[in-house]
Amino acid sequence: MSKTCKWISREEFYGEYSDHWSTDCGQVFVLNDGTPGDNNMKYCCFCGKKIKQLLKQERTCRVCGCTDDQACEGGCHWVEDDLCSSCAPKEDQ
Ligand SMILES: [Zn+2]
Ligand SMILES: [Zn+2]
Ligand SMILES: [Zn+2]
Repeated sequence: MSKTCKWISREEFYGEYSDHWSTDCGQVFVLNDGTPGDNNMKYCCFCGKKIKQLLKQERTCRVCGCTDDQACEGGCHWVEDDLCSSCAPKEDQ
């Protein structure tokens, strides 16, 4: 389990003036101005984990949860939108 709660700006979905942030723990928070960081919010008010703010949706592997930032041990690349090479079915006969 990750120790951080990702807060993702939903700007992409709602347009330029959106102030909605969706959180890893399944909540939506509305910030009147700026980012959680701008507002000195360090911890998620829903689950208490440290906030990791993302300005847009980060790619995450649906199996192992690795990201561009934190690839699997030994490295991996994307084979599908949400599947990394370490978790892709191997075609070995
Ligand atoms: Zn949270
Ligand atoms: Zn993976
Ligand atoms: Zn990976």
